[in-house]
Order: sequence, then C-alpha cells, then structure tokens
Amino acid sequence: MQETLQLLIELQEIERKVKILAEQKARAPKEIAALKEKEKKAEARLEDIKMILESGKKLRRDVEREVEDLEGRKTKSKQKLLEVKTNKEYQATLKEIEDIEELVRGREDQIIEQMESADDLDRQIREHKLLVAEASKKLEEEGVQLEKEAKEADSLIVSLEEQKEQLKPRIPSDLLKKYQFLRDKRAGVALAPVNSGTCGVCHMNLPPQTFIDLQKNEKMMNCPNCLRIIYWTGHEAYKQSSRAGGDSG
Ligand SMILES: [Zn+2]
Repeated sequence: MQETLQLLIELQEIERKVKILAEQKARAPKEIAALKEKEKKAEARLEDIKMILESGKKLRRDVEREVEDLEGRKTKSKQKLLEVKTNKEYQATLKEIEDIEELVRGREDQIIEQMESADDLDRQIREHKLLVAEASKKLEEEGVQLEKEAKEADSLIVSLEEQKEQLKPRIPSDLLKKYQFLRDKRAGVALAPVNSGTCGVCHMNLPPQTFIDLQKNEKMMNCPNCLRIIYWTGHEAYKQSSRAGGDSG
C-alpha cells in the first residue's frame, strides 16, 4: 500500500514535469516566429522610408528642371524687353518676368522643403537600420537559445518517458487504470496531498475521522469532495516521495 502510493506519486510527478516541458517545447517555435516577424516588420519599415526618400529626390529633380525652364523663359523675356516697341508691350513683358520670378520662388521653396525632409528621412533611415540590426541580433541570439532549450526539453521528456515506462509495470493494473481515469477527469491531477486535514488540491477540509484513518495509512482513500486519491504528507514515506520528485527537476 505504502509502496504503491509512492509509485503513483512518482508517476504523477513525472507526468507533471513532462507536461511543463512539452509546453515549453511548444512555445519555442512560436517565440522564434514572433522574433522573425519583428525583424521583417523593421525591414519593411526601413524599405518604406527609403522609398519615400527616393520619390522625394525624384520630385526635387523634376522641380529643379522646371526652375531651369523658367529661368530660360525669364532670359528670353528679358531679351524681349530690350526689343519691345510700345509701353503696353513693355509693361506686359515686365509682368511676364515678375510672374516667372514668382513661380521660381515657389519652386525654390519646394526644393528647400524637400531638402529638409530628405535630411529628416536620412536620420530616420539611420535609426531604422539600427532597429533592423537589433531585431536580427535578437532573433539570432534568442533563437539559438530557444532552440537549445527546446532540444533540452525534448531529451528530458524522452528520459522521463523512459522512467514512466519502467514505473508502470510496478503498479497494479487496476490501480493504474483508476489513476489514469482520475487524472483524465480531474485536470491531470489524480493524487492530492493532505497536509493538516485539508485536501491539497480542492482545499476541502476532510471529516476528522477520514483524516485519522488517512494518517493510519492502511488503505487507499479518496478525497470525499474531489475524489482524488489522497495521502498524508506527514507520513515519512510520502514526504520523501514528494521531495525526491521536487528536487530532480
Ligand atoms: Zn479534494
């Protein structure tokens, strides 16, 4: 009875560890994918800014060509000014030159604005290059670590499963079935430690007589509330079982 319970406690501890390790292992690829996604987003943002800068520069070249054209027109108008015959023509040509100069001023303002925005975009590009480098470094370093942890979890699971297979034949099969039934119906926990008269899982106080019987350690008993197999942690044998389980992982 005592040994069988110890085996069950051990089995439950092994299964608990396997569950934690499996969860840890399943998390690794998700975390790596998230890091990759961050890197990809940082790269995409950098490319966007580069494109904005490029189209701004192209626009500036167009405006600069326009200014050249306007300057050409202005030169012609000034030439015309020397050749006009009437005052009316003279005034009209003068107005023409003024209009051109007005247009040139507008274009030059656009060019200055674009140059300022290009400076800002250059600064943003430098910043985003750093962000990309940071994301890549993080992916590389943390990715390696996560993969390493997943592998470690994997080999631990293998050895725990081996331990489990060695343990199972030592447990009477009807009891093993009962354990598995309870485990599946009770959120993966079939056994509950009882400390000072309280079920360690559902936290219900045991009837005093039940607790007294439990301490005698003569028969397999269940929590009257959650029906889990209970054991008294004050008993030397179970103290050791729980401690051994807790220390080895
Ligand atoms: Zn209970």
